[in-house]
Amino acid sequence: MMVSYKERIARRLTLVTALIVLVVFAIIYLVVNFTVVESIDRELQLETDKHVGQIFLVNGEIRFVHKDEWQEQEHSQIQLNPIFIEIVDMQGKSMDRSPNLGANRLSFYPDRAKKGEAWTLKTGSREVRQMQIPLNHAGKQEGYMLVAKSFEDARELLTNLRNILLLLYPGILISLFLAMRYLAGKSIQPIQQIILKTNLISQSNLNERIPVTEPNDEIAQLTRSINGLLGRLEQSLIREKQFTSDASHELRTPLAVMRGTLEVLIRKPRETDEYVEKIKMALASIDRMSEMIEQLLSLARVGKGKMSREDVELISFTRDFAQQAEKETGRKIDFETNLATPLYTQVNEKSLQIILTNLVGNAVKYSAPKTTIQLQVGNHEGASFIQISDAGKGMSKDSLAKIFDPFYRELDQTGHSVPGTGLGLAIVKKLAVESDIQVEVESEKGLGSSFRLIFN
Ligand code: ADP
Repeated sequence: MMVSYKERIARRLTLVTALIVLVVFAIIYLVVNFTVVESIDRELQLETDKHVGQIFLVNGEIRFVHKDEWQEQEHSQIQLNPIFIEIVDMQGKSMDRSPNLGANRLSFYPDRAKKGEAWTLKTGSREVRQMQIPLNHAGKQEGYMLVAKSFEDARELLTNLRNILLLLYPGILISLFLAMRYLAGKSIQPIQQIILKTNLISQSNLNERIPVTEPNDEIAQLTRSINGLLGRLEQSLIREKQFTSDASHELRTPLAVMRGTLEVLIRKPRETDEYVEKIKMALASIDRMSEMIEQLLSLARVGKGKMSREDVELISFTRDFAQQAEKETGRKIDFETNLATPLYTQVNEKSLQIILTNLVGNAVKYSAPKTTIQLQVGNHEGASFIQISDAGKGMSKDSLAKIFDPFYRELDQTGHSVPGTGLGLAIVKKLAVESDIQVEVESEKGLGSSFRLIFN
């Protein structure tokens, strides 16, 4: 069963409030109860203090200081909040009691004779609060005076208070739950708007954004984060589309060349030489496609799987690479360094090999056959670097910004370019990002280019 968020908030808050209100109500009841009992006990104490000086027990007989006055004063008629008095001997036998008690009697408890101690009990149908004090004569205790006061009004007040609190409790909780549910629903309304709007965004309308609400609170931040994510998704989708369309375009060209060549061939019988020439052209197209597919696969493989890093000594690694490349390309490749001690760095050796192969390959491709290519290893401001420089055709400022994009190729003035796929530098960039290598390029049209790999 799904419980909505507003329901959960309302339930939790209501539960906490229920506990708090329960404690508050209990405290209110206990404080009122204590105050009422305390005030009755104080009155009882006053009464006992007053009567103790008026009544004596002398040899088992009751003596009053001013009997008429005492009888007249009170205790003879039923009053609204009367005082009941009863005098008992040491065994608790009643000796006299105020007329307002009628046939009822107060209870005698021999153990409860401490000063100021009072308790609640029932006499007949009435509830009273009673005190009990010893009556002494000539230093000898002769009996007890029991003084009681009606507890009925206080009981009514306490019962009313309890009933009101018991009635209020569920009322407060129900209205609190409803109010909290309403308020929680109102507070998450913007989130529901975001859900609605987000559900409407799909690949076809990825350019749409969720309106950012005021004020600038967590919900606005959430909206901005979702919008940021949508923006990144849109960009990557655009890039992917562009990449797919560029890849298809690049593959279509050699295919079209091959088709055209073969169509020409089958139109009529040809000389053997012509067959050889056309088939060579078709094979060149196949080679071009194979190279491109190979590079597309390399590009797709970058970033897949975990890339390990190992300690690579850059000086010997680059020197060996230069010697190997010289053999393979047949070009003069100079290695230089001004460092006397080995230079270690943490990098994936295979990735570094691919990066250097692509950069040196480009330097070879885009420079005149007689010119020398330089590979330099150094250390600048604490960072190690490898620099690949050529004295080749160089690049324009516009091209420099685009050379790392897949399929970007700079055409020369005649509209032709050196054979290539436009994927080499895209692979370099991806591998470098993955290996934390920074790539810097400097190039001057007609003078040459240099690529610097900086190791962090
Ligand atoms: P490709 O070399 O297959 O065309 P790259 O991605 O390796 O693809 O290079 C992209 C473009 O950058 C090249 O077409 C070329 O115009 C330019 N470029 C790269 N390296 C050099 C270089 N060393 N000198 C001059 N231009 C270069």
